[in-house]
Amino acid sequence: MDFSSISAAISSLQAAWTVATNAIDRRDAALLSEVKANMMQQLLEVSTAALELQTKAVHFQELAAGNSEKYSKLNEEFMEYKKRVEDCSRYELVTLASGSHVYVSPVADSGMKFPTYFCAACMSESKKTILQPFGYRFRCANGHPDILAGKDGLSSRWQ
Ligand SMILES: [Zn+2]
Repeated sequence: MDFSSISAAISSLQAAWTVATNAIDRRDAALLSEVKANMMQQLLEVSTAALELQTKAVHFQELAAGNSEKYSKLNEEFMEYKKRVEDCSRYELVTLASGSHVYVSPVADSGMKFPTYFCAACMSESKKTILQPFGYRFRCANGHPDILAGKDGLSSRWQ
């Protein structure tokens, strides 16, 4: 039963009430009994419908609360991802003498004498992983393949 059905049932109850008051005025016991039974049936239908609507309302409230929680969590994840992407965009992609690519932090920003190198594969996943020297290679702590720096090391820009 929906709202329009409830409205119809309430209208029927009001009509039955009018008939009942007329029956009382005329002291018509048979008509009064019939109207009373009709009103009880209408009240039962309205009560059942109201209970169904209340159950649905509770269900929708629970859904809305769950969706709100999911939205908050997704928004939080998005903001974290956006922050990581913005942070990664500050670094510059450079080509090593070997032809391999790494990201490098601006020396002025890091306050260090030499630039810090970051794994390009990790940066593509919006992760910042400092590359560690390993012979003529750089090694990513996240398990990406070693990056060949070449015997001469970095491109001419960073030598
Ligand atoms: Zn990596």
